[in-house]
Amino acid sequence: QPMSVEVKHLMKQYGIQLAVNDISFKLNKGEITGFLGPNGAGKSTTMKMITGYLQPDGGTVLVNGMDVQRQPIDVKKSIGYLPESNALYYEMYVSEYLYFVAGIKRLTQKWKHIKNAITLTGLELEKNKKIGQLSKGYKQRVGLAAALINQPDVLILDEPTSGLDPNQIIEIRNVIKQQGTDKTVLFSSHTLQEVNAVCDRAIIIHEGKVVANDTLQNLQHQKNDVATVLISFREKHLSVEQLQFNCVDKVEMLAPGHFKLFTQQEQLVRKNLLAFALQENLNIISLQSEQQSLEEVFRRLTAGS
Ligand code: ADP
Repeated sequence: QPMSVEVKHLMKQYGIQLAVNDISFKLNKGEITGFLGPNGAGKSTTMKMITGYLQPDGGTVLVNGMDVQRQPIDVKKSIGYLPESNALYYEMYVSEYLYFVAGIKRLTQKWKHIKNAITLTGLELEKNKKIGQLSKGYKQRVGLAAALINQPDVLILDEPTSGLDPNQIIEIRNVIKQQGTDKTVLFSSHTLQEVNAVCDRAIIIHEGKVVANDTLQNLQHQKNDVATVLISFREKHLSVEQLQFNCVDKVEMLAPGHFKLFTQQEQLVRKNLLAFALQENLNIISLQSEQQSLEEVFRRLTAGS
């Protein structure tokens, strides 16, 4: 995969506060990367430095091999940026606003680009309305259209769905997913469901540092050493001691007949439980292993300091 954005040892300090503390990562073309972290983790600050809107105190950003600080204009040409609180001109008509943006970006063949951006974001029916008259979801589409107007190959989207209702969220996500097939997309969010629904990869940051950078699949399987197995028997008389097999670290009784087993050998525990039930003529109502959810991974990585 061709690498198109490379962030190396980025630093940013506000007064005495280190907002971004030595962040490095790479983004690949054709991949949507979720940029995840609790509020205040440093996501917006990092994005502003990638797009050249904020000078870093240290480190470099390369976009398609170009240094953002040395070639800010060239870099901006290949980036589409949707800031977190995107300022729109409510008195302007949608197409008028996009024409204005195309002008700022010094595009030639402005209407061709505007038409393309309108199509991509599904704004055909709204293009002659005033921005102020649009719903929040459609206002966000206008922001996206502005970000896409120069047909950038890198898209930096700062919390693009925040404040939208569930239907609007799905619509915006679909636009982003479409864009992600041939672009490099970095998409920030403080919620996991979001990243889970849209992204191939997630970079999790916490207090200005990268704490995880992996595919969603790998993050999900990045378990604690201990797995848990939940079992329920129809019989209520069983004791904790009876389930204390060699391969079980600890057994908890959740309720009569319901147990939680902690182990590092989940498969073996399941086999032992089935053999035990067969031997004692017990009825198993349910048997499941607890998969660590992405939510748990996120909480574990970003909990406390
Ligand atoms: P996120 O986008 O993850 O919510 P930010 O990058 O906005 O995080 O902020 C990171 C930290 O830097 C926060 O603690 C925030 O309060 C602080 N911060 C952000 N912008 C400024 C600023 N202009 N001046 C001072 N502190 C700031």
